[in-house]
Amino acid sequence: MGVSKQFVQPSGDILGAAGFILSGGIGGVPTETVYGLAANALDERAVRKIFSAKGRPFIDPLIVHVCDMAMAEKVAFLTDRAKILAKRFWPGPLTLVLKKRDCIPGIVTAGMDTVAVRMPSHSLMRKFIEACGCPIAAPSANPFGYVSPTTAEHVAEQLADKIDFILDGGKCAKGVESTILMLSESGKGHKLLRAGPVPVEELEAALAEEIDASPKHNEAQPQAPGMLKSHYSPHSRLTLFDCPSEVENLRAENVIFFTRPTSPESNHFWLSENSDLSEAAANLYSLLRKLDKISPNGFFCQRVPNTGIGVAINDRLSRAESKL
Ligand code: AMP
Ligand code: MG
Repeated sequence: MGVSKQFVQPSGDILGAAGFILSGGIGGVPTETVYGLAANALDERAVRKIFSAKGRPFIDPLIVHVCDMAMAEKVAFLTDRAKILAKRFWPGPLTLVLKKRDCIPGIVTAGMDTVAVRMPSHSLMRKFIEACGCPIAAPSANPFGYVSPTTAEHVAEQLADKIDFILDGGKCAKGVESTILMLSESGKGHKLLRAGPVPVEELEAALAEEIDASPKHNEAQPQAPGMLKSHYSPHSRLTLFDCPSEVENLRAENVIFFTRPTSPESNHFWLSENSDLSEAAANLYSLLRKLDKISPNGFFCQRVPNTGIGVAINDRLSRAESKL
């Protein structure tokens, strides 16, 4: 890791990291989903640095992270439905798209009058936001379109020369980006903008209302770039398969299986030791990044059972496979 290690703040140096944020800097921060690239959400110039470090288009709005309900109220108008979901799922991997307050600059929301808000559960991230004392805008800490980072080393590898610090909070527990829900005022037509660790069925149960889990969208003006057909992509060609028998004759290519094969070969990798979807999600991006590096001619990955967090894993895999 060489030079990048210098950027990794020891996990305890929250005040040092907050100091960078309060003086208009940007840095990598841990959350339970993936690492974020943080700036003071109220500081337009700082937020602009996030877009340039990532190469992210300005049409792609950011998620604003808060540490408590009082801070959430300062960022957005919390409807009764939002409060029900916040009570049940926050802190945690659920992002709510709500009407924004005036203090949030347009650069954060791509000029829209809605803002995406989340209260993360990662203890270091919560202490970090508290120490900053301001809402934190943070997209995933990777170059736009690439696989998200789930360790401080992933962040350092790609962004070390573009950011001011990295707060090392270890490996992300969930491993895929938050569930994003756009609530409707009427109770009809709530939209799931991105599948994530909180399954849509749990949101529907909490609201006692239906959610459109595959809303139609306009690719030119996406409501969430996570909805773009091609995103979260490795550089090397990725091919998906369902059944291990489909790849049994592959000797030269690297293959990621959902679960550990009974007699694994040296070109075999697996997301989980024993068919555990949460473990598979937590290992997904590390394995995609690793195989991207060692498989110049492409690699293969098995789809996982399409239930619970498996829906989010398969969603990311199909976007990683698809090329524009
Ligand atoms: P990332 O931080 O890379 O996981 O991306 C943040 C996601 O939140 C993107 O897919 C954004 O489009 C989505 N998002 C942020 N703000 C809004 C908003 N106001 N309306 C809809 N989606 C949003
Ligand atoms: Mg992202």
